[in-house]
Amino acid sequence: MSIAESVKEVRKRILNAANRVGRRPEDIVLVAATKGVEIERIREAIKAGIRVCGENRVQEARPKMDMLKKEASWHFIGHLQKNKIKYLIGEVDLIHSVDSIELAGEISLLAGKRGIIQDILLEVNISGEKGKFGIPPDKAKETVKAISGLENISLNGMMTIPPFSETPEYSRSYFRSLRELRDEIISLGITTSGFKELSMGMSNDFEVGIEEGATLVRIGTAIFGERN
Ligand SMILES: *Cc1c(COP(=O)(O)O)cnc(C)c1O
Repeated sequence: MSIAESVKEVRKRILNAANRVGRRPEDIVLVAATKGVEIERIREAIKAGIRVCGENRVQEARPKMDMLKKEASWHFIGHLQKNKIKYLIGEVDLIHSVDSIELAGEISLLAGKRGIIQDILLEVNISGEKGKFGIPPDKAKETVKAISGLENISLNGMMTIPPFSETPEYSRSYFRSLRELRDEIISLGITTSGFKELSMGMSNDFEVGIEEGATLVRIGTAIFGERN
C-alpha cells in the first residue's frame, strides 16, 4: 500500500471508530508518528492530508521541522530531557510527554523567555508498568495542580502508552482509566486550562483509544509501514 492509501485507510478506520461511539471524527487529531521516516516520505503523507507530525527525538526532529515547518504542525511525543527543551520551545505546537513538575517548570521558564505559552500534555504511566515513563496515576492530581500554577504553560490534558500487546482490547481498561482520571481532574476544578485532550492510541490500538475518548492518536506503522 502507498502512503496515500494508508492515510486514507487510517482515516476511514478513525471515522468508523468515532461513529461506533457517536463521536465526531473532527474531534480526533491524527498525529503521524514520523520517527525514522525520511523527509520525502513525510512529504508524501502531508500531500495525502496529514496535518500534524509527531517526533520522538530532538536531534531527528529539528531538521525535519525546519524543512517542513510550513507544511505541517509538529508535536513532540518522545521522552524529553531537560537539556533538550530549548530546541523545542516555540517550535512544536504540543509536547505530549511531560512527565515531571521539574520538566514543566523548565519549559515554562524558557517559554516565558521567548514570550510564549507552550501547550503540553502530562504523560501518565496509567498501568504502573516498571521502566515506563510517566507520572504514576496516584500522583496525577497533585502534579496537575502544581503544573497548572506555572505561568507560561497551558496544560491541555494527558497522554499514556499502555503495555504493549498484540490484542487491541487489552488497552481498553487503561484508556478508560485515563479518561476517568481526566474527568475527575476536570470536576475537581484544579486546572486553569481546558484539560480535555487525551493522547492515547497507536497503530495497534487507536480504534479502542477513540472508543474510549482519545482526542489525539499517534500513528506510525499503519501509515509508513514497519520501522527497521
Ligand atoms: C512510535 C510511537 C508511536 C507510533 O507507534 P506505531 O505503533 O508505529 O503506530 C506513537 N507514540 C509514541 C510515543 C511513539 O514513540
